[in-house]
Order: sequence, then structure tokens, then C-alpha cells
Amino acid sequence: RKCMYDASFDVERAEAQSIASELRGIIESKQLEIAFQPVISVRDMRISGVEALARWPQSSSRKVTADRFVAVAETAGLIDDLGELILDKACAAARNWPDLRLAVNISAVQLNNPRFVERAMAIIESHGIPTHRLEFEITETSLIRDADRAKQVFKELQRYGIKVALDDFGTGFSSIGYLRTFSFNRIKIDRSIITKVLSNPAELAIVQGTLLVARGLSAEVTAEGVEKQEEVAVLKLAGCTELQGYYFHKPMPAHAISELLTTRKAREAERARA
Ligand code: C2E
Ligand code: CA
Ligand code: CA
Repeated sequence: RKCMYDASFDVERAEAQSIASELRGIIESKQLEIAFQPVISVRDMRISGVEALARWPQSSSRKVTADRFVAVAETAGLIDDLGELILDKACAAARNWPDLRLAVNISAVQLNNPRFVERAMAIIESHGIPTHRLEFEITETSLIRDADRAKQVFKELQRYGIKVALDDFGTGFSSIGYLRTFSFNRIKIDRSIITKVLSNPAELAIVQGTLLVARGLSAEVTAEGVEKQEEVAVLKLAGCTELQGYYFHKPMPAHAISELLTTRKAREAERARA
């Protein structure tokens, strides 16, 4: 077999290795940071939950995006440990927000671990968080690899009360049959769909149709990546039940979520007095 020498391949591999070795230390010292992005319910436009998003420590000498270090963790055999650390830290923070749902991203590679559900349950229980507050998000494209295994794990999670959300809906092979095969509690519509609808109004009917099916299967629908006022109206019209994006809130540290909730409480108390 002929093999062409490609210097950029070596550079990429060296970088991945260096990220992996720093990540190993970050996991051991538990220095990974977690940001939380609020999710807004369309019904009352209040915060109904948060999504935990892993953040490379600011103390590091370089910047690595979540996409990047999650992918490195997957290939370097670190994803189970990384995933457990993220869940643990997210649960610890969420104890302060008993009324909010907590969404945690799960890599499809984690589903291959036969002890995944058992480990996750142990972590959640150790923080005394009711399982019904938890939702695991998994990307659409990643599911195709081993659909049977995924289906089985989702069922098990749901038996324990943990909800399962399909992330990045619309980027992969999303089909109605797909939604039926897995009984998702929620689908999260990718930002690319929003842009499509805004530039081509005929798309709205297609999105509405898909969402109708989702609702028929009693799944909730969240639109992610909402950046503009005019998108909010379209998404409500399309039948989304929850909205998430920079227009409302960017991902923020745990203490900022607590402050947000405190301010909201004060504002509501004031309104009740008036
Ligand atoms: P995702 O799960 O689809 O997360 C949403 C991403 O969109 C986040 O990027 C978030 O910061 C960003 N975002 C939120 N609102 C807006 C908006 O209005 N406009 C735009 N343009 N972007 C917005 P982030 O945190 O960099 O994460 C990227 C991806 O990395 C995530 O996509 C997810 O697939 C993965 N990831 C992040 N944290 C974790 C984690 O804890 N575990 C796993 N397995 N994957 C994670
Ligand atoms: Ca997500
Ligand atoms: Ca997403």
C-alpha cells in the first residue's frame, strides 16, 4: 500500500497528543470548568433549565474548544472519565437550582461502556438530584453507528426517569422514521434550520410538519442557537416549546446562573406586591 507523506498530518497528530496529555491532568485534578446556558420555556418565557457545556480551564496556557477536546478524549480513551467528571460537576452545581432541568451532553462513545448507566446513576444519586431533572443530549449523527445499542441504553435511562434528547436535529439523517425508532423526550433543532427557514419561508412548512410529528410522539422541541428577535417569532410559529441561544443568554459560570435566578425571584416578588 502506498502511503503519501503529509506533514500536516503529523502536526495534527502531535497536537492531539499534546491536548490528550494535558486533558489527562485536567481530569485527574478535576480542573475542568463547566458553563451553563439557560433554556427558555415558550409558555411563560421563563428559564426552565440549563445545558451544561464543558470548558477548557482558563488557567491553561492555551485555548481548546469543547468540540476539539471532546473529540480528542474520544480517540484517546479519556471520554468515560471526562464524561463522568462533567456529570459530577454539573450535578454539584445544579443542586442550587432545584426548579431547573439539567441537560448534559453525552458522547456516543460513552454508550459503548457497559457500565455507563450504572455509573451515571451513582453520580446523580450521590448529589441527591431527582433523576427526572436530568436530560442527556446525544447528537443525531453519532447515533447511526450503533443504533441498537443506543436504543437499549436510552430505554434503560428512561426507566430510571432520565430524559433523552436528540441534539443537532436537522444536520444528519433526520427522518420521521428515525424519531419513531428512538423514543426521544426532546429534539433540539440545530441552528442551521433556523437560518434556512428565515431565508426561505417555504422551509417553515417542512419544519412545522416535522415538529408536528415530534409533538405527536410527545417529544418536546427546543430550538438552539437563537440569536435574533425575529427568529423568536418564527420559532414559536413553527411549534417550538423551548428556546436557547445568545439572544436570551450565553453560557455562563454556575454563580451567574444563581444570580440570574435571585434577580428573577426579586423581580417577581416586586411584581406580586405591585
Ligand atoms: P452543542 O451541544 O450543540 O452545544 C451548543 C453550542 O452552541 C455550544 O458551543 C454553545 O455555546 C453554542 N451556542 C449557544 N447559543 C448559541 C447561539 O445563539 N449562537 C451560536 N452561534 N452558538 C450558540 P460549545 O460550548 O463550544 O460546544 C460545542 C459542542 O461541543 C457542543 O455542541 C457539544 O457537541 C460539544 N460539547 C460541549 N460540552 C460538552 C460536554 O460536556 N460533553 C460532550 N460530550 N460534548 C460537549
Ligand atoms: Ca447539546
Ligand atoms: Ca446542539
